[in-house]
Formats: sequence, C-alpha cells, structure tokens
Amino acid sequence: MFETLTAAPPDKILSLSVAFRADNRPEKMDLGVGVYKDSTGATVIMKAVREAEKRLYDSQTTKTYLGMGGDDGFNKAMLKMVFGADGDYARLFAGQTAGGTGALRTLAELLARARPDATVWLSDPTWANHFPILKAAGLNTTTYPYFDAATGKVKFDAMLEGLKAAKAGDIVLLHGCCHNPTGANLTIEQWDKVADLLVAQNLFPFVDLAYQGFGDGLEDDCAPTRLLAKKVPEMAIATSCSKNFSVYRDRVGCAMLLCKDADAVKIAGSQLLMMTRTMYSMPPDHAAAAVRIILEDEALTANWKAELEEMRLRMLNLRKGFAEALRRYSNSDRFDFIAEHRGMFSRLGITEAQVDRLREEYGIYMVGDSRFNVAGLKEDRLDELAKAVVSVL
Ligand code: PMP
Repeated sequence: MFETLTAAPPDKILSLSVAFRADNRPEKMDLGVGVYKDSTGATVIMKAVREAEKRLYDSQTTKTYLGMGGDDGFNKAMLKMVFGADGDYARLFAGQTAGGTGALRTLAELLARARPDATVWLSDPTWANHFPILKAAGLNTTTYPYFDAATGKVKFDAMLEGLKAAKAGDIVLLHGCCHNPTGANLTIEQWDKVADLLVAQNLFPFVDLAYQGFGDGLEDDCAPTRLLAKKVPEMAIATSCSKNFSVYRDRVGCAMLLCKDADAVKIAGSQLLMMTRTMYSMPPDHAAAAVRIILEDEALTANWKAELEEMRLRMLNLRKGFAEALRRYSNSDRFDFIAEHRGMFSRLGITEAQVDRLREEYGIYMVGDSRFNVAGLKEDRLDELAKAVVSVL
C-alpha cells in the first residue's frame, strides 16, 4: 500500500522547535512557533481557564455525545464576542470546531460544495497552512498583493488593483486582525474600501480571526469583521480560542456564517454541520465548555479579559522596546514598523541567509522568512537581540 507514497516534507515551523530543543546553548532564544509566552518563556494556563475547568470538573455529570455543532452556549457566546451588542443574529450561524484550523477546513468544505468553481484569493504572504487547508477541500487558490517587504507596510493600492481580477462569486480570505506572518494590518478606512470592492464585484469574504484580543483589544479587533457584516450580504468567519484563551492543544474554535436571511441560515448551517459530521463527527468538548463557563459568568469574564489585556500590552511594549533597540544599534529607522504592527508576529525583513546566521552564531531561532514571535522576546534581552540582528545585516 504505502510504497506509492513519498514522505511528507517536515513542517518548517514545527521542525524549528525540534531544532531549538536540541540546542544546548543556554542563551538560545525561541522566536519561532506561534504560541504566547510570558516573560519567563512559559505558556501558562490562564487563571480564568483553570477556574472554569475546576467548575466543569465539579459540575459535569456525563460525557455523552453533544451534537455536531458542539456546545450551544459556547456558540452563542462566541457569536456575541465577535459581533457584540448589535449583531444581526437572525442572519448568523455558529458551530464549534476543532480549533481555528477546524473552522477554516469545515467552512472551506462548505464553500467548495456551494461553489466548486470559486477561486480563493489569499494575501501574499499568508499563514502557510491556508493553502493546503483550502486545497484539501478542493478549492482553487491564488494570491493578491498585500505586503511591501521594503517598507513593512500594506501595499493597499496594489491589493485593490490585484483584487479587481477576481470574478463574481470568488472568495477573498482576509485576516480579521493581527495578520500572520507580517503583523501589517489594514486601517479601518481601508477595510471600508475593501468592503465596497467586495460588494461591487460580488465577492465573498472569508475572515480568519485567530488572534482576537492580541491586536488593539477584544472589541477593536472585531471592528473590521463587524464593518464587513454591515455591508456584505454573506460571509464566513473562522475564529480560534487557541491564542486568546491559551487552550492550544485542547482544540477550540468556531465556524460562523452570515447569511442573506434566516431561511438561508437553516440551510447553510445544516450543511456546515454535515461537513463536521463527515470529518470528525463532532468537536472536542472540554476547553470549549470552559470557554463557555467563562463567557457566561460576568466576574470570570472580567478576570479573563484582564489576563488577556496583560498579554496584549506585554506584546505591545516588547514591540516598542525592540524597535527602539534596533533604532539605536542600526542607527536607522528601518525597523520602526515593528512598533506599528500588531499581534504576535512581524517580519524583520532580513534574508534567509541572515536568519540562518542568527541561529548558527547566536542561537536565535526564527522562521526562514524572518517572521518572529513577539511574545518570544524577553524584556531584558532586547539590546542583545538587536545587536545580534544588526551584526548579521
Ligand atoms: N489562522 C491563523 C492565521 C493562524 O495563525 C492559526 C494558528 N497559527 C490558525 C488560524 C489556527 O489556529 P488553531 O487551529 O491552533 O486554533
């Protein structure tokens, strides 16, 4: 059987973690894999999650099956978290999924079934896993211009120009906030123009919202998604609790649909659940139940929000500190964009050979395209890191 296969190529980011663990140098720095870390380098369980898990342990009396859409209370709370007080809830559907990846994949399956000829337009660059996830569902993919490596900014005019080539019914994948891997995001005015373009060309927005709360705050990070929802007739949203609840391995996410009306919600929602049914029947429960417990309890929600805000502000301060250190050591404003970017990632904009030198000479690990994890930085080692970066330029 398996002689027909060749080995799958190693995942670039995950193999970086393996190499990091095998490195014996005590001064090594891991700026690779995308998980939040505190100032000691640990990815801790959030206190609110721990408390919710305790309550779950004390109150749960059965582990019998839930439905294909998972926990109804979770789905309702997630919709509210994304769409807020004035969401058009009669037109919205949500189904719990196995992580943000599960949301992307089930939605991709639904879109491929609804419109098999559609092409999905992805930003250049995008999260590397977007391509295989969409292709596995049978969708065609192509890219639109997005990031200007020379300035570290979004090439907005080129983006709009590129999207003009999309045909009616095509799908445009947009990072709702905290663009991965670049950290460069659209302004709300630019989002408004994108929304107008989507409507004018009859394009379908597919929003990947994996970092809500890591950019400008829990509410502000949803502003683009809410703006789109006010303007477009239909859209899909893939959300993830991996980062903002720090429940990575427990696999919690949510697939959402905005439909033309309540009848369309029934049809599209039922088909979406069928996609889950055929792939993994139903999503894992544990941490989704914990998230539901947090979001349904005012005091616990307040605690969770405070912890999340602390994480966000830490990343923001690290961005500022690193940009300042690079400014001092490079004697230039070349890296100022790092302080302007939002979320867990930015690209330094150095060559792959320079990234290799940082790893080999200093034990500093980042992805080959020079994407680094802001949360992997250490407050007291920014000067050391900036000096190393400047030394390989
Ligand atoms: N979308 C983006 C842009 C991501 O960066 C990630 C995780 N790296 C995901 C989705 C999926 O996250 P998960 O499946 O772990 O929830």
